[in-house]
Amino acid sequence: MKQPCDRAAWLKGGNAQCQNKPPKQADPYRLVLLGAPGVGKGTQAELLCDALGACHLSTGDIFRAAKSLAPAERSPALEAALEYMKRGELVPDTTVVDMVRERLDCLQCEGGFLLDGFPRTVAQAEALDAMMQQRGLKLDGVLSYELPTEEVIVRISGRRTCPQCKANYHVSALPPKKEGLCDKCGVALYQREDDRPESVRVRLEAYNRSTAPLVEFYTRRNLLISVSANGAPREICARSLELLRQRRARAAM
Ligand code: AMP
Repeated sequence: MKQPCDRAAWLKGGNAQCQNKPPKQADPYRLVLLGAPGVGKGTQAELLCDALGACHLSTGDIFRAAKSLAPAERSPALEAALEYMKRGELVPDTTVVDMVRERLDCLQCEGGFLLDGFPRTVAQAEALDAMMQQRGLKLDGVLSYELPTEEVIVRISGRRTCPQCKANYHVSALPPKKEGLCDKCGVALYQREDDRPESVRVRLEAYNRSTAPLVEFYTRRNLLISVSANGAPREICARSLELLRQRRARAAM
């Protein structure tokens, strides 16, 4: 089986080169994923990348990868960004946009790309527009995953995580075989601080304030594709792929 791409160019930036780059696609998809915390956007990103052969470009993953760098290897801007992240706040637009600009070649990945967690504000979306224009690229669409707020709160507040392998469970939708213990590691599961109902409400408010306006931004550009995030992950992925297929078919008419 072919090894997956290690996304080194995206995660590390600089002169890092990807190992096992995604194969060239005849008509690569270039997509953005939107959705409130807890709608399952990260899971969809992985399933869609598998199905489309595209690269998963998550800005959150860049910050998480930076956390394991030695402090001397982190720039002052990155150090400051990690502080924002620790507090659950959004990193300032200039820092995030500079970071993506340093990785512009990833937008030209021959397999296409799926941006996850970027853009998160209208200023970031405008910057992305400009960067793509500079490279002569166009977005194919923006998949917006939708779920009622109460359902989001139930989903996140029932989530339990393994401290060792990071696997996620859910107290009712995806319980471990033995209550409270990871199936793979056997260690006690825990609830992430930001998954507690009071934190979830704060994260949702931040989303509604900063990121929800992007729905209007992309609707005006005729790029928005609304997807119901109800159901099992594979069902939601199949729904997304069908909507993408229909969109391409309409464009070809
Ligand atoms: P995520 O994995 O996308 O939820 O991102 C984790 C954290 O990284 C967020 O809570 C922010 O602190 C930071 N972050 C990631 N992407 C962005 C972005 N586009 N704009 C601002 N902050 C971001």
